[in-house]
Amino acid sequence: MSPADDRARYSRQVLFAGIGEEGQRRLAEARVAIVGCGALGSAQANALARAGVGFLRIVDRDFVEESNLQRQMLFDEADARDSLPKAVAAQRKLSLINSSVRVEGVVADLVPENAEALLSDCALVLDGTDNFETRWLINDVAVKHQRPWIYGAVVGSYGVTCPIVPGKTACFSCLLEPGAEWGVGETCDTVGVINPAVNWVAALQVSQALQLLVGSWSFEQARLQRGDLWSNQFHASPMPAPRADCRTCARRQFAYLEGKAQPQITLCGRNSVQIHERGRRLDLGQLRGRLAAHGEVRNNDYLLRLRVPPYELTVFADGRAIIHGTTDPSLARGLYARYIGA
Ligand SMILES: [Zn+2]
Repeated sequence: MSPADDRARYSRQVLFAGIGEEGQRRLAEARVAIVGCGALGSAQANALARAGVGFLRIVDRDFVEESNLQRQMLFDEADARDSLPKAVAAQRKLSLINSSVRVEGVVADLVPENAEALLSDCALVLDGTDNFETRWLINDVAVKHQRPWIYGAVVGSYGVTCPIVPGKTACFSCLLEPGAEWGVGETCDTVGVINPAVNWVAALQVSQALQLLVGSWSFEQARLQRGDLWSNQFHASPMPAPRADCRTCARRQFAYLEGKAQPQITLCGRNSVQIHERGRRLDLGQLRGRLAAHGEVRNNDYLLRLRVPPYELTVFADGRAIIHGTTDPSLARGLYARYIGA
């Protein structure tokens, strides 16, 4: 797209005093990573692509399902029907929304082995995840490489968000005990979620992102914000400064990045278990042929699904698998060994 077209495209944003011509130029040069492209990640990616952020890397381990469509604004029925990985579906959709933005969809779980490579070459990281294990890992990489990241979480009608800017604000470890989980113990799989709560949190995250990217963010204005969009109760408190005794940002101990806290098998909600098998490249076409005798098999270029009631195995080309129908890790491991390989 030519510079003249860009002028028209972003005219309303450039008119806004907080951004202007210089801010728009900075957005075009910016690189942002979005970890998790479910409800929050979809809304963040949509907004940042439309705002003209030059490069977006979208990291997601999951695929689109029909139950996502109520709140995950980038996806449609065809994506769910084809079981497309969210990172792939998002990349396709965003290229239609703004063809001048470079979008890199990465179908992967963010883990200690890939986290620095996927995050450290970006100026900013947005939290679109649904679990604390990944957030602790993001915090380690962000603090180690001095990159801001913006925490966000939603469940039911309730949301919480804050910017974490290394050297300026408290980091995640300053705010929380190691391994602790913030907010509510419930998950979207048990109490549901409504889309205005998602879009409220994503809007606050994107606003912080724009301020950081154009250089107008200030510690004095930074807030930890909580809100309930059903009872209309909102609360904002100033972000604390870093703690002098913090194990992560003061003592620079990166336990999550060093993999000391990373289990091989994790529960990932929805009555399912994820098996983090890596470095096992699978030929999905060949696997399909082998599994056809065992149950109903479907595959696309990115994943294969085997239905063996009451279970369903979704296997990715890198060997990772999500076993639906159980929360028992040893049963899941057994099914994996039986159908995919020990
Ligand atoms: Zn800290």
